[in-house]
Amino acid sequence: MTEFEVIQRYFTNRQLLQCGVDLSIGDDCALFSPRAGTQLAISSDMLVEGRHFFSDANARMLGHKSLAVNLSDLAAMGAEPRAFTLALALPEVQPVWLRDFSDGLFELADHYHCQLIGGDTTKGPLNICITVFGEVPNGQALRRDTAREGDDIWVSGTLGDARLALASYLTTDANQHSDLCTMSEIQKQQAALHLHMPSPRIALGMALRGVARAAIDVSDGLIGDLNHILERSKSGATVWCDALPFGATLSHQNVSVQREFALAGGDDYELCFTASKDQRNVVLAAAKQAATQVTRIGYIESEKGLRLRDANNLPVNLSIHSFDHFYEPGN
Ligand code: ADP
Ligand code: MG
Repeated sequence: MTEFEVIQRYFTNRQLLQCGVDLSIGDDCALFSPRAGTQLAISSDMLVEGRHFFSDANARMLGHKSLAVNLSDLAAMGAEPRAFTLALALPEVQPVWLRDFSDGLFELADHYHCQLIGGDTTKGPLNICITVFGEVPNGQALRRDTAREGDDIWVSGTLGDARLALASYLTTDANQHSDLCTMSEIQKQQAALHLHMPSPRIALGMALRGVARAAIDVSDGLIGDLNHILERSKSGATVWCDALPFGATLSHQNVSVQREFALAGGDDYELCFTASKDQRNVVLAAAKQAATQVTRIGYIESEKGLRLRDANNLPVNLSIHSFDHFYEPGN
């Protein structure tokens, strides 16, 4: 199969042309007009074999996750998905893999009416790079630099199950976390769904426009991502460890594992956002409208840094850091 046959067979004309997309796959560029009164929200995320997923990853789930992690960035801005491009490096053409990958990809794309409008296909180590384009009404994007002292801090869904799924694959984790409890096969499967099939919180992000003050998606662990809000907003925060919404599978683990995986796990793809205290009922109404659970986990302070407290308001000292591709212990 040639490069063009791959594009034609697996990535072209699988969706109806969306309004606003004037020219899709087949020319040198796609042409796309955002609706009047909106700004384009644009984001790219790359998934590299051996780094973001295992070599034997299920192709259908990988198609889903590749787009889901990108849509999660749109959700964090309160943007509505419109279109995406796909740059794909493939070691070889494997028809079954390509069929499953594109099925997983288009299932999610169709759900959000997000159209594939172009990309690039080349031979090389498996690498999947997607760029998404979303729309947000002028001036209404949820940003990282707008949290204010006194704001509540909220998080959607649950945290830590994806990290627990990873632990079930990594033998090094069993050594490092001596208190990691054995998981049943059913628990492993439940946790694995969080890792491989994340649900981008698009509906919540859109419902929080004009309600939340600042927002970010939790992809590298809550602490690290919340810290991005704190740095950009030049503020600090207190988070209550015992208020964190632990994943259903994680709740069977010891409290130390629960805290570490929920605070610094990664791959959660939930939204962490701040909102004025007097907006609590409005936040809950937005969450209900989006059919998404939200939990209040702390508050923004003027004093810089992030402080963790338990249910008795005593400080919790945890030496944990969020995921960083270039972090090396000891540096
Ligand atoms: P060019 O050489 O002009 O950059 P290509 O020959 O690489 O264009 O691609 C031909 C068309 O197919 C373009 O419209 C491009 O956007 C699209 N395309 C290439 N690869 C993909 C892909 N993986 N998914 C979707 N569209 C793709
Ligand atoms: Mg060209």
